[in-house]
Amino acid sequence: MTARRLNEVTVVNGLESTENAAVRSAITGAALHEKLAALGNETYGLQTCERYADMIAEIKHLKIERRAVVLAHNYQRPEIFEVADFIGDSLELARNARDVRDADVIVFCGVHFMAETAKVFNPDRKVLLPDLRAGCSLADSVTAEALAERKEELLKIYPDLKVVSYVNCTADVKALSDACCTSANATKIVERIDSKNILFVPDQNLANYVQGQTSKRIISWDGNCYVHHQITPEEVNKVKRAIPGIKVLAHPECRKDVLALADAVLSTSAMVRYAQESSANKFLVVTECGLSDRLLMEIPDKHFYKACKLCRFMKMITLEGTLDSLKHLRYEIELSEDVREGAKRALEKMLELSV
Ligand code: SF4
Repeated sequence: MTARRLNEVTVVNGLESTENAAVRSAITGAALHEKLAALGNETYGLQTCERYADMIAEIKHLKIERRAVVLAHNYQRPEIFEVADFIGDSLELARNARDVRDADVIVFCGVHFMAETAKVFNPDRKVLLPDLRAGCSLADSVTAEALAERKEELLKIYPDLKVVSYVNCTADVKALSDACCTSANATKIVERIDSKNILFVPDQNLANYVQGQTSKRIISWDGNCYVHHQITPEEVNKVKRAIPGIKVLAHPECRKDVLALADAVLSTSAMVRYAQESSANKFLVVTECGLSDRLLMEIPDKHFYKACKLCRFMKMITLEGTLDSLKHLRYEIELSEDVREGAKRALEKMLELSV
């Protein structure tokens, strides 16, 4: 699985050395305005797009100067996609972070735990997060101390217990885990890990979903993503009634009663592939709104409806912040070596088990 590479010029391996590359790949304000008009969002007026086009050109120029790459999560703002070398879900970006070569700087347009993952695989590079407030309610629901305590209790009852942590957690929680997983591979990791009893942290909805796919015992943590957890079956049913035949694609971080209404339960990048390959042309996308924006821009001949919510953390990353991050080389992610090594082991276990 590879994340979509957006910009042909600003490639990761073999960064172009001339400023002309930035100039060639720059988009005009008018072209950006036309492209973003598909989103039907009044924010993207011509003046705003002209301002963004200038920033995009400056960011592309700085990427070359700084030997930097930009990784962007699917939930980012559409204007951020314009400067991204890779766009993807957590698993894809974890792989990209591991495979980055010939770059000195990684700018991570996503949330804090994702930038930590990039640092885990790139200890000698500067990993930058444009805004340190870009956290995650789900990651905040489990601390390393609470996990260590719960693990100790459960090991007395289930001596074979293994901890599988969804990647949406901090590096020190990952370091206490036997393997990580993403929404794309959670069931596979649980099935393949060498234990019948699994403590699954921190997302209770993903844990419930996996429990429905496996005969192993899943002991879930009491956490959730506030964005997905607030989506209700009533909202989904309302759209289904209004648009007969619409295909419902839901993210497994949604509640069980919402997943029960879905035609397919998929990670964000699997949603992109599903929409591209399906013969259907109307989809209700039940996840964070950024993905619907990506779909609207990439598959303009199909119709996407948003039963979605904005993640306030993801939206803290802006073009202005990304530009400042590259200009001032801020904010740098740092990890202690023992946490980094522990998290790397759990992430590598995931990559090994998910092949
Ligand atoms: S969408 Fe949910 S899981 Fe993802 S960063 Fe936002 S709060 Fe965290």
